[in-house]
Amino acid sequence: MLTCKELVANSSDFLDSQLSLRQRLSVRAHLAMCRKCRRFIRQMRLSQAVLRQLPEGQIAGLDALAQELARQRRERL
Ligand SMILES: [Zn+2]
Repeated sequence: MLTCKELVANSSDFLDSQLSLRQRLSVRAHLAMCRKCRRFIRQMRLSQAVLRQLPEGQIAGLDALAQELARQRRERL
């Protein structure tokens, strides 16, 4: 039986369908029993979907924005 920690470690492969059938089954078995991990997987899935919908340029824009905010914060301190 998978532990929660192992499930988290496998979660991105699980979501990308990179796991073997046996690994996938053990993830599914764990999810059937563990509400915490079900919620975790749901959130992962959601954020992956959001990231995929962003056009590439926009991600670069977010990067620049984050850097700009960090710079402003440094100057204020
Ligand atoms: Zn769990």
